[in-house]
Amino acid sequence: MSGAVAGVDPERWEVVIGLEVHAELATRTKLFSSATAEFGGEPNTHIDPLTLGLPGSLPVLNAHAVELAVRVGLALHCTVQRSVFARKNYFYPDQPKNYQISQYDLPINADGWLELPSGQRVGIERAHLEEDTGKSTHVGGGGRIHDARYSLVDLNRAGVPLLEIVGRPDLRTPEEARAYVSELRAVLVAVGASDGKMEEGSLRVDCNVSVRPRGTEELGTRCEIKNINSLRSLGRAIVAEAARQVDLIEAGERVVQETRHWNEDDGRTHTLRSKEEADDYRYFPDPDLVEVDPDPAWVEQIRASLPVLPAERRHRLAERTGASGETVALVVERGLDDLCLAAIDAGADPARTLTHAEHNLSDERSRDLDPAAFAALVRMEVDGQLTATQAKTVLAELVDSGGDPAAIAAERGFEAMDTSELEGLVDDLIAAHPAEWQRFCEGDGKITGFFVGQVMQATRGQADGKAVTALLAARRG
Ligand code: ADP
Ligand code: MG
Repeated sequence: MSGAVAGVDPERWEVVIGLEVHAELATRTKLFSSATAEFGGEPNTHIDPLTLGLPGSLPVLNAHAVELAVRVGLALHCTVQRSVFARKNYFYPDQPKNYQISQYDLPINADGWLELPSGQRVGIERAHLEEDTGKSTHVGGGGRIHDARYSLVDLNRAGVPLLEIVGRPDLRTPEEARAYVSELRAVLVAVGASDGKMEEGSLRVDCNVSVRPRGTEELGTRCEIKNINSLRSLGRAIVAEAARQVDLIEAGERVVQETRHWNEDDGRTHTLRSKEEADDYRYFPDPDLVEVDPDPAWVEQIRASLPVLPAERRHRLAERTGASGETVALVVERGLDDLCLAAIDAGADPARTLTHAEHNLSDERSRDLDPAAFAALVRMEVDGQLTATQAKTVLAELVDSGGDPAAIAAERGFEAMDTSELEGLVDDLIAAHPAEWQRFCEGDGKITGFFVGQVMQATRGQADGKAVTALLAARRG
């Protein structure tokens, strides 16, 4: 059944997932000051008076951050609109101003969607600009604030531009959630907005999960899970949280809306804090900043400068080759679609080309293959000059050191076996193995491998396995 989540009875329950992804934008400096936005560094060296929230310092908006936000918004088919920066008030030691500048009721991007490789479209509610906070390190007591001896604050990250991309609750399984994050990452990287590194925190995912009786419309009470550092954790956290909620409801209890923490070690989510409401933050427009109202001409200029995005690249490749969705998605993910299309333009058989891209070109250097050489190799294979195994070997060498496929094949002594030579070999083998031949004739399919193996041994792998199989079938009559 579609929409199944491990450990949850799919007949009775449906899991609903909505993700908030924070992406650090790839600017040189911070969102409102000229301090460097570079990752890492000695603690508290990437700072300036504004980062420290010193009196008298004033924010100046980083135009590059706005441009990157618009690039993402357009790639996600959002409406780019007039937006206002607001103060979100809360105390936290890694945020010296005691408020975070974010966008609230008027985000720069609203109402878009992201298409997954499966063709599913996931709604995007908004994608707004905000500043990142610093980082606290709790020392002693297992790294949690509650029983730490003391805490250290590093403000290098405070003020780095973030784009918060709020997805609609359109996801139903861990697989869909992971596909969504992968696709979003691919889009962010493609438009140059982010380096997409989850392990460096450039991309951070908060995951909202609720459950509802299968067949009902009304959304259940959600919990938001923080501290998800990888796609693997995302999947595990959803499974654990959905099961916890179903268990609660089936025991006659209620799910309480709250923020929970994913613990990688025990594989469970734990209460972090009860959910704040928007009212608690006392949002109001930041009086130090003017509204951002992007000029439509500028927005169109940005739209025209966007690269072809992954979804469109998948459609293009599928149309040209008729290949399955999974193959096409994999080839685009590896960035091999341009190579394949160029090889096909140069006369390579589309199906063979994609088969190689899928199975024999996982090496990153494959992207630099010469399309003409790749096409020539595929043609040699399709014309019967090379067996599939030989073609694979030549291809590996092309990736390693380039060159001419015909020359490489000749150097390795890969000569096409003459059909009559092959026929003679097969006839000799049939004569030498009457018992096996008898079984083959009685329809024992497993014995085919025996004969093919014998031929391969005799020809040191030069024969075309498919041709041998065809010959055997022909001899049986
Ligand atoms: P918050 O301020 O609580 O973070 P947002 O509006 O920023 O709220 O984000 C809400 C997120 O929760 C969205 O990603 C949305 O898809 C998701 N969501 C809302 N309701 C549900 C629900 N019942 N179940 C699962 N996810 C939900
Ligand atoms: Mg939010």
